[in-house]
Amino acid sequence: MDQLFAAYSSKKLHHANLIYGGAGADPLPIALNLAAQLLCETKNGCGTCRSCKRTHKLEHPDLNFTFPFVSGGASGTADDFLKDFRTALLKNPFLDPDSWQRQITSKNQQLQIPVKEIQNLQQKLSLTAAEGGNRVLIIWMPEQIKASASNKLLKLIEEPLPNTFIILVSHKKNRLLPTIVSRCAPWSCKPLDDSSFNQYFENSAEPTRRLLSMVFSPNLGAAITAYDDPENTQIDRFASWMRTCYKGIPTEITSMVNELASLPKETLKTLVYRSLHFLERGFYHNVQNTPGKATDLGAINVQKLSGAVIPRGAYGITQSLGACLNDLERNVHVKTTLTHTSYALHSAFRGN
Ligand SMILES: [Zn+2]
Repeated sequence: MDQLFAAYSSKKLHHANLIYGGAGADPLPIALNLAAQLLCETKNGCGTCRSCKRTHKLEHPDLNFTFPFVSGGASGTADDFLKDFRTALLKNPFLDPDSWQRQITSKNQQLQIPVKEIQNLQQKLSLTAAEGGNRVLIIWMPEQIKASASNKLLKLIEEPLPNTFIILVSHKKNRLLPTIVSRCAPWSCKPLDDSSFNQYFENSAEPTRRLLSMVFSPNLGAAITAYDDPENTQIDRFASWMRTCYKGIPTEITSMVNELASLPKETLKTLVYRSLHFLERGFYHNVQNTPGKATDLGAINVQKLSGAVIPRGAYGITQSLGACLNDLERNVHVKTTLTHTSYALHSAFRGN
């Protein structure tokens, strides 16, 4: 990323930039950092000038945001959710798609950037900059732009406007139109590791830090959401699903499956993915040695759980959760695959 800021300092920054990397990792914070430099009165992101202060509050009039949202707002554009977006991003600078979705909807609604939002952008950019300096447009998750709007975005990128910088922040670069990617300067972010987690949660107890990193790494944004809101996190759900699987009582498995099947699909996929991630780590990294017993997150006892992942079961766990993820991707009957997976986990936990 040093090269990105070097390009800026040497006045060689392209007008369209694509910053990409994992969800809940560096891309969004880096985009904001770049925006702060572009909008700063002294052009170096001093942090103290009026522009910098407004940028840090996400309130600079020449800092525009586009992001995926759900339909049903008054204007049908991202403006309907701008307040929520600011609140979410100020609370969680590593905001990840799943946390964002849960912020604005509890239903299984598809988040997207519709044609109307791209028209809204064109309209905004046709006006002159409010402060007479640079203008910045951050488009978070351009991969969620409706296919019919992609060409309008392409046009926006192809025809640069004076002093206007477009920053695409993507977590799924391979889903973008090749024509869009080829017109942007690409900047790749490295995945976050334990040190980023330790740094962000430096004021928390060590077992908490280790647990957060184990469950969520490399998605720091998801860890921040879970930490800020332990009541409403997947940790509880994960723990109760695992307890149910471990016990293996059919009526309990059925009601658990019904509960899980009613979740938004993305939330469910995230849960299964994290369960896989967590159980694999639990086994391979021998979580039994993690210091401390129950943690600040309350709902989960790491030692007990990893104790259940006995060597013979580990392969079965990887297999069944992996297959479950595939089924969810392919929209195979959700309850069937969850039931199958729950019993497979039961066998794996018991080493059968
Ligand atoms: Zn400044």
